[in-house]
Amino acid sequence: MSQQQIYDLIIIGAGPAGLTAGLYAGRFRLKTLILEKLIPGGQIILTNNIENFPGFINILPQELIERIKKQTETVEVDIEIEEAKEIDSLIDAQNLIYKIKTQNKDYLAKSIIVATGARARTLGIKGEERLNGRGVSYCATCDAPLFKDKRVVVIGGGDRALEEAVFLSSYAKKVFLIHRRQEFRAAEILVEKAKEAKINFILETVVEEILGKDKVEAVKIKNLKTSLVKEIPCEGVFIFAGIVPNTDFLKNQLLQDESGFIITKEDMSTSREAIFAAGDCRKKSLYQLITACSEGAIAADSVHKYLLKR
Ligand code: NAP
Repeated sequence: MSQQQIYDLIIIGAGPAGLTAGLYAGRFRLKTLILEKLIPGGQIILTNNIENFPGFINILPQELIERIKKQTETVEVDIEIEEAKEIDSLIDAQNLIYKIKTQNKDYLAKSIIVATGARARTLGIKGEERLNGRGVSYCATCDAPLFKDKRVVVIGGGDRALEEAVFLSSYAKKVFLIHRRQEFRAAEILVEKAKEAKINFILETVVEEILGKDKVEAVKIKNLKTSLVKEIPCEGVFIFAGIVPNTDFLKNQLLQDESGFIITKEDMSTSREAIFAAGDCRKKSLYQLITACSEGAIAADSVHKYLLKR
């Protein structure tokens, strides 16, 4: 029976953090595999344009990801489309080897970088789940063309809500942005762009229910100051209420915060030996493309140092 390949490093997730970790690991000549459950790119490919990656005034996310992926492949890093379902550790006398289980196969590695990113948080309001895909969306880039000359509501006050509201305004007849506070979490430049795009801000207001029989017809909103409730007729509702980490498969094997974000040290090490984390699945202060990439680089460097001394 042939001996199963043991990788120096398996990276779980091929978003910006995972691909950059792969690039650095490959340059350290670590035998590296990246596992990706769907398509490389992560959440960034759900946005329509990148304006804050240094060196690029404007770049399409798909183009940037394709470039990083190509660069990573030049250093002989393999990418397999397989979803990691579970991490198991096997202790032999000399070495700590992890087994990563996927649907079809088990993979062995001396170290792991978890770079599984995050996904959109749902609000849990009435009508949201029922009308998901029938007017309710979490991705303007994917769905904006469906709302040409229609009325849409955007929920949230962070970078995504403001950015996507502006994007939607080039299709929709009217865009309402409903945010529960007076102040925005988003970068000021995005708020300015939304004002220029004539987005209708409805502040200190929450959406209580999404209404419609078979598709979205309106939202029921409540002003938090006056308690006044009213309906806004619309065909689309785009929800950008933050992110939740893709860490369920870890089954709490690592130290995580109450929302599931992985706690790491500065060198991206986690609470378990030889497991590191990078990108939006980590608990941190700034969730950006640039920080995801730099954490990927740091994690790969830490893996290299760890493997040298073990
Ligand atoms: P975010 O920055 O966490 O903002 C989420 C927004 O949703 C907040 O305004 C929040 O309101 C609101 N919200 C949360 N729960 C809610 C609820 N139950 N009801 C009503 N409103 C609710 O998340 P994001 O905009 O989705 O972005 C995710 C991360 O990616 C962020 O860290 C963001 O900075 C980053 N990102 C960056 C860029 C960029 O640099 N261009 C683009 C996209 C995303 P409160 O403000 O009142 O809490």
